[in-house]
Amino acid sequence: MSIVYDFKENIKNDELEKVACVINKGGIVVFPTETVYGIGADATNDEAVANIFKAKGRPQDNPLIVHISDMEMLEDVAADVNDVERKLMDKFWPGPLTIILKAKENLSSRVTAGLPTVGIRMPDNKIALSIIRASNKPIAAPSANVSGRPSGTRLEDIYDELKANVDVFVDGGQTDIGIESTVLKVDEDGIVNILRPGRISLEDITKLGLKARLDKHIFADVKEGEKVESPGMKHRHYAPSTKTILLEYDNNENYMFEKVKKFVTNNNQKKIGIVCFDEHKNTYESMGIKCITIGSKDNLSEISKAIFSTLRYIDTLDIDVCIIQGVKKEEVGTAIMNRLLRACEYNIL
Ligand code: AMP
Ligand code: MG
Repeated sequence: MSIVYDFKENIKNDELEKVACVINKGGIVVFPTETVYGIGADATNDEAVANIFKAKGRPQDNPLIVHISDMEMLEDVAADVNDVERKLMDKFWPGPLTIILKAKENLSSRVTAGLPTVGIRMPDNKIALSIIRASNKPIAAPSANVSGRPSGTRLEDIYDELKANVDVFVDGGQTDIGIESTVLKVDEDGIVNILRPGRISLEDITKLGLKARLDKHIFADVKEGEKVESPGMKHRHYAPSTKTILLEYDNNENYMFEKVKKFVTNNNQKKIGIVCFDEHKNTYESMGIKCITIGSKDNLSEISKAIFSTLRYIDTLDIDVCIIQGVKKEEVGTAIMNRLLRACEYNIL
């Protein structure tokens, strides 16, 4: 049986010590960060890291992000930090940004999946930082979910699928941001290449006076045999068991309504659901379909926070197919669309 500690109201010191002890003995701890829950272990312990892969059923070639609590710990895990990387750290750490750096040898080679590089992040969450500090270890922690499933943003969503392989769950309530960190690599020409979009957007990075671009696989599937900058791009992600179809955002709302109406007419034998903006609920209900609201169309933060629990909720409904409303591909909308395209396995209405 795994232990559950409730840190929602406050971090209890005696329990924090126990969590640190579990990490130091090579155990597995699920804990909140500001993005999503992580499933973590000592990043320097081969066996502990192997157990994370086992618990998630994660492909061995997909490296883990290493979480640190301060710049001193950075020295233990990464080398050769350049000026652009330093500028990004100064501005965005602690925060939802993972930077791919040259890995140091004391990390388990399983963390890096054998690559010479490692993704490093300093999370902006009191519980996560306290656990890293108390154990005094860099903590490898991918998103806490079985591989392929939506990431976990509330402990109750992921407890059952992970409990057989986790020693301690730390409950910090619902995570703030709701989608995983931005992952980037600074290329040799000094240009910031965003490999996975997150709350820190391309716009946030260019505002610092840096040059940045989105990797071409952010909105496109990887073709057989194609080379990728980040192994995670190749793998199936976030998909509910229910068939889902993405409705791309259009400024002309009537155009979107017509598309849905046509789909409903052409599929009148099927039970159809739609994940939609609050503002569109009445319109879709009048078409006789089940509506699951995800937030206001003008509030992308609210939508990013709700995405993964909504994707899980779809599977609890008695529907055959679910349409999912897309958002504008700007600011954090880029990250939301990256997740939704994958959740819908690139099916577009
Ligand atoms: P997760 O741990 O589930 O949040 O996923 C981490 C993401 O970061 C995956 O898409 C990984 O492929 C990517 N990643 C981690 N380390 C590296 C690295 N050294 N080089 C490129 N991508 C990485
Ligand atoms: Mg993940």
